[in-house]
Amino acid sequence: MKIETQCLHEGYTPKNGEPRVLPIVQSTTYCFDSTEHIAQLFDMPTEFMYSRFANPTVDAVEKKIAALEGGVGAMCTTSGQAATLFSILNLCNAGDSFIAASTIYGGSVNLFAVTLKKLGIECIFVDGNAPISELEKAFKPNTKAVFGETLANPALTVLDIEKFASLAHGHGVPLIIDNTFATPVLCRPFEFGADIIVHSTTKYMDGHAVQGGGVIVDSGKFDWANGNFPDFVDPDESYHGVSYTKTFGSMAYIIKARMQLMRDFGCYPAANSAFLLNLGLETLPVRMRQYCSNALRVAQFLEKHPKVESVNYPGLATNSYHALAKKYLPEGCSGVISFNIAGGRENAVRFMDHLELASNVVHVADIRTCVLHPASATHRQLTDEQLVAAGINAGMIRLSVGLENVEDILADLEKGFAAVI
Ligand SMILES: *Cc1c(COP(=O)(O)O)cnc(C)c1O
Repeated sequence: MKIETQCLHEGYTPKNGEPRVLPIVQSTTYCFDSTEHIAQLFDMPTEFMYSRFANPTVDAVEKKIAALEGGVGAMCTTSGQAATLFSILNLCNAGDSFIAASTIYGGSVNLFAVTLKKLGIECIFVDGNAPISELEKAFKPNTKAVFGETLANPALTVLDIEKFASLAHGHGVPLIIDNTFATPVLCRPFEFGADIIVHSTTKYMDGHAVQGGGVIVDSGKFDWANGNFPDFVDPDESYHGVSYTKTFGSMAYIIKARMQLMRDFGCYPAANSAFLLNLGLETLPVRMRQYCSNALRVAQFLEKHPKVESVNYPGLATNSYHALAKKYLPEGCSGVISFNIAGGRENAVRFMDHLELASNVVHVADIRTCVLHPASATHRQLTDEQLVAAGINAGMIRLSVGLENVEDILADLEKGFAAVI
C-alpha cells in the first residue's frame, strides 16, 4: 500500500459486524478465564493486560505508525519528550554516553544536557556539518547511540541521515532520528539507514492541536547482539530472565522499551488520545503536501520582502540545506519557516503582535498558521552559546504555515510588516 492508503487502512481492519471506525476501548483492564492464562501473559505478553503499557486503540495507532515508517513495531507515549527520553534510556545506563547533533529541538537539548547528565548519561553535541574525521572524535568506548533530527525545530537544518547512519554503524551503535517535522510522508529515515525513529505526534501527526503525544518506532534492523548492548542479550532479572534478542528477535528494542521503561515509568497515552491522533493520521498526506506548497509560496514572498533580513526554508534554492533537502525531503520541507526581521528582537515582537490571522501560540505544525518567538519562548532555557549552536537569532520568528488560503496568509503577514519600523 502507498502511504495515503496506509494512513487510512493500516492498524485496524474491522471484521464482520465490527465498527468501521477505530473504537475507543475505554477500559484499563482485561478479563481472563484462569490464573494460568494470566501467568502465561506475564511470560509472553501476547494479549492486553493493563493500561500502563498497552491498550487496543493505542495499539492500532502504533501499528499504523510503524507501517508508515516501515518499521517492525512502535510504542506511543504521552509526549514527544517521553519518546525521546525512552529512546535513549533503552540504550544508555549511567556511565554511558551518546552523540547528538547540536541543532536538535531545544527541549531535547535540555533533556540531554541537563537532566540525563544528572542520571549519569553524557551527551556529546556535534556540528552536523562537520567532516566525518571530526565527528569520529566524538565517539568513546562508552558511546551507545547517535541522535539527530531530519528537519530540525526550529533551526530547519537538514541532517545528512546517510552520513550519520554510516558513522554510527561504523561504531556498532544505532542512529536515532527525530522525524517530527518531516513525518513519514516527507521522509522515511529507515530507508536511509536510521535504526530508531521518534516523533512528537503533538505536531503534524495530530495536526489539529487537540492532544499531545509521542511515539518510538523500531526498524528491526539493528544487531543488538553485536557485543555493545549486553542488556538486550543477557537475561533481564526484572522480567523472568528473558533475553530480548533471543525471545523477541527483530522486535527486541521496542519490546524492551515497553517491558522495562513503560512498565516502570508509565507514560502510556489514553485511548481517547490515540483515537484523536488516528483522525489526524488519516489526513496526514493531504495536509503535508498542502503545508509544503503554502510554505514555499510564503518563503518566496519573505525572501523578496525589504523588511526581512534572511529567510530560512530548505525548500528555497538559495538555502544552504537545499541539496540535502532535495535528497531527503523531495516532496517538500513542511510548513515551518524561520526568518529574521530587520531590527531584531523589538521588531520581531512588534510584527507578531500585529498579526490577526496567525495566532501567537506555543505550538508549531498546526492546521492553523501560527507564530512563535523562540528566543523568548521554547528556547528560553538555552544559554546564548546554546542559542547560537542551535542556529537561533534573537530576532528570529518561527512561522508555521497552516492550511488557510495562502493569499490570506500573505495578506496577514503584510499587516505585521506594516507595524515594523
Ligand atoms: C515538540 C517537539 C518535541 C517534544 O514533543 P512534545 O510532544 O512537546 O513533548 C520533540 N521533538 C521535536 C522536533 C519537537 O518539535
